[in-house]
Amino acid sequence: MTIHGAIEAGGTKFVCAVGSAATGSLRTATIPTRDPDATFAEVAAFFRDAADFGPVAGIGVASFGPVGVDPASPDYGKILATPKPGWEGTDLLARIRAFLDVPMAIDTDVNAAALAEVRAAGPDMRQLAYVTVGTGIGVGLVSEGSPVHGIGHPEAGHILVRRHPAHEGFAGTCPFHGDCLEGLAAGPAVSSAWGAPASELAADHPFWEVEADYLAQLCMTLFLTMAPQRIVLGGGVMKQERLIPLIRARTADLLGGYVQAARDEAAMERLIVPPACTEPSGLVGAFLLAEQAAG
Ligand code: ADP
Ligand code: ZN
Repeated sequence: MTIHGAIEAGGTKFVCAVGSAATGSLRTATIPTRDPDATFAEVAAFFRDAADFGPVAGIGVASFGPVGVDPASPDYGKILATPKPGWEGTDLLARIRAFLDVPMAIDTDVNAAALAEVRAAGPDMRQLAYVTVGTGIGVGLVSEGSPVHGIGHPEAGHILVRRHPAHEGFAGTCPFHGDCLEGLAAGPAVSSAWGAPASELAADHPFWEVEADYLAQLCMTLFLTMAPQRIVLGGGVMKQERLIPLIRARTADLLGGYVQAARDEAAMERLIVPPACTEPSGLVGAFLLAEQAAG
């Protein structure tokens, strides 16, 4: 059996694994994200210890963004404009190559997650969007089997949305745009606007309707721009299971019957769903990237 390495590099934690997309993880470790030196020292130690499973044929990295994803660019594998102290310009692939020189590939955490969700959905899935609503809002897109790249990778978490009336006066928390979608609806924005995280807000709090409205605006924009057959909603905030039905209903409302395939509640239940992968989708996607790199 061929062993691959997977790294889900997040802003708060790095998850490392050996195994494969087909078998799942054989061993995993969660490493808190500190500065690059300290973090990669622990990543290296994990792969050294995991050598008893056999040699690793390739490594896939599912990274927080923005990150260089074009193998032909000098930015490939590097963290780009991030507010995360110490990480801008960090060359993730060079850091890994320093302790394990095997074929590697990198993409955003959400593009990798989208690849994993496409695989889980079966052969008819041509267009899929994966959305994480966590510390930030990220959107990964897979079209005809390939993650979407162009001038970098899509950043639909930062689209502008129409302000909800119950949210007037909240400036938003995005360091780049203030009240973009991420600045209004990611986890830190929720805590900042309402004084508590979603997990502590009562069922009749205005938060639920406001949050569902913003995320429905994203879903509407995704349906209108890339016609996804499935939008997968993951991330910490989406652990609140009551959000998905609210988002489905509001998306149908906003679309106003215009998109034929997304007209009714039954269609919405197929189109807007939680992750199908049993392991975190980003980690499974990192295994798929490793497989592609190893050939
Ligand atoms: P990250 O985006 O850093 O990879 P998460 O997806 O877990 O990590 O997102 C963390 C954010 O999600 C935090 O802002 C936190 O408040 C929020 N969050 C985490 N768990 C929950 C939960 N069960 N319910 C609501 N919000 C949550
Ligand atoms: Zn923004």
